[in-house]
Amino acid sequence: MQFRSTQSNDSLVSFKDAVLRCLPSGGGLYVPASAADMRQFFLYMDINTSYPELVATVAPGLLQGELNPFSASRVAESAFDFEPELQQLDDRLSILNLYNGPTGVFKDFGIAFLAAVMEELIKNNGFAMILSAAKGDTGVSIAQAFYKRRGIISVILYPSGPISGLDPASFIQNGGNIIPIQIRGTFDDCQRLVTEAINDRPFAERYGITSANAINVGRLLPQAFYYLYAFIKVKQYLEEDLIFSVPCGNFGNLIAGLYAWKFGIPVSGFIAAMNANNAFGDYIKGKDYCPHPLIATNSPALDVSQPSNYKRLAAFYQEAPAVMRNMVYPESVDDRATLEAMGRAWKQHNLILDPHGAVAYAAAERYIKSRDDFYGHVVILATGHPVKQAELVSEVIGRKLEIPEKFRKLQLKIDPAAVIAPQLDALQGAIASCV
Ligand SMILES: *Cc1c(COP(=O)(O)O)cnc(C)c1O
Repeated sequence: MQFRSTQSNDSLVSFKDAVLRCLPSGGGLYVPASAADMRQFFLYMDINTSYPELVATVAPGLLQGELNPFSASRVAESAFDFEPELQQLDDRLSILNLYNGPTGVFKDFGIAFLAAVMEELIKNNGFAMILSAAKGDTGVSIAQAFYKRRGIISVILYPSGPISGLDPASFIQNGGNIIPIQIRGTFDDCQRLVTEAINDRPFAERYGITSANAINVGRLLPQAFYYLYAFIKVKQYLEEDLIFSVPCGNFGNLIAGLYAWKFGIPVSGFIAAMNANNAFGDYIKGKDYCPHPLIATNSPALDVSQPSNYKRLAAFYQEAPAVMRNMVYPESVDDRATLEAMGRAWKQHNLILDPHGAVAYAAAERYIKSRDDFYGHVVILATGHPVKQAELVSEVIGRKLEIPEKFRKLQLKIDPAAVIAPQLDALQGAIASCV
C-alpha cells in the first residue's frame, strides 16, 4: 500500500516514508492512496485469534513489500501486551473495550504499534527522533511505547502546567531516550512547533524528525486493526447490518473505521457520536464546515472545535461523497444525556462506562430506537477506562471504583528536562543541547 497527500494525488510514498517524514510537502496529511482488499486475511479468521496474531497476519498483507510476516510478528508481539475486549450486551449491542493499555485510553493502540513498527523500519542503521505534542496522559503513552526503542529518541512537548506520570529513569540524562520539554505556551503552540520542526527540512533530516501525534498516518492506520478484531468476534451473531458507534473528538478513530471498511470489513455504517461540540455533524450531512465556539463538557476528549483530521475526512468526502453521507450518522449527546446513558448501561447490563463511552452508548441507543426494522448489531467503542473519571462515574452508578496502581502512577508530578519559549529556534537549541 502506498500513501498520498490529502492535497494531491501525484506523488506516492511508501509506508516507511510516510511514517518517517510524517508531513508531505505542501501542507496536507498522508492518507492511504488506495483501498486494499484484506478480506482473504480476516474473513475466515478463527474467533479465538489473539490481537497480536491478527495484527501479525493483517499488517504484512497491508504493507506488502515493506513488512514481511516475520517482522510483523515481532512488531505485534513487542507492541501489544494488552488486547481489546469484546463483550456482547444483547442481540443488538456489543461493547469493544479499548482501554486496557498502559494509560487506559484507546490511543495506546496506535501509539504502541507506531513505536514498534518504527523500530523495525529503521533497524538497519537508521535513526529517528519522535517529536510529539502531549497533554494529559498521551505523553506517558508515547514515552512508554518508545522507551528503549533502538535508534529512537522521543522528545515530548508539554504546554505550561504540571506534567505527570513519566518515569525519570527513562529520561535521556539518566541513560534513557526520552526528553520531556515544557513550552511556555498552550497545547496549540506545542502542535505548531512539531509542524514547524518537521517542515524545516534540513533540521528534520539531520535528526530524522517525525511525530507520534495523530498527524502520523502510522499511528492512525493500525487503529483499523481493532475494527477487524471486533468483526471476527461478532460475525457469529451477525444477522444483518454491522454498525460501529464511535465517540468522536479529532475523528481519528472514525477515520480508522472508514479505512477498515476500505480494507473490506462488511460494515454498513458508523455513528459519529459527539457531545455538545457537534459542529462536524452538519459537515457530515453535507453542509459547509463552520466551527462553533468550544463548550466544556464531561467528556473532555471530545471537546474539539476544529478536528485535526479535517483534511483526511475531507479527502474521503472528495472520493465518495454519497457513500459518506449514507454511511456516517452524526449524533450529538449533551452532558445530561451522557450521565443518563451511563446510568442505564449500569442498570441494564452491569456495564461501567466512562463518559466518552457513554456518549457512544447513548448515540447507539438512539440509532436503534429510531429504526423500527433494525435487526443488525451495533458495536460501541469504549475509548476510556472508567477509573480515569472515577469520581463522576462513582456518583452516577452509586458504587466506589477501585483505582489500579498503574493509574495512580499517572498522577505523580515530574520536572521537564527544559522549559523554553514557544519558538522554533528555542526548541532547536534545546534539542541540540540534549543529544
Ligand atoms: C482521544 C479520545 C477520544 C477521541 O478520539 P478521536 O480519534 O480524537 O476522535 C475519545 N475518547 C477518549 C477517551 C479519548 O482519549
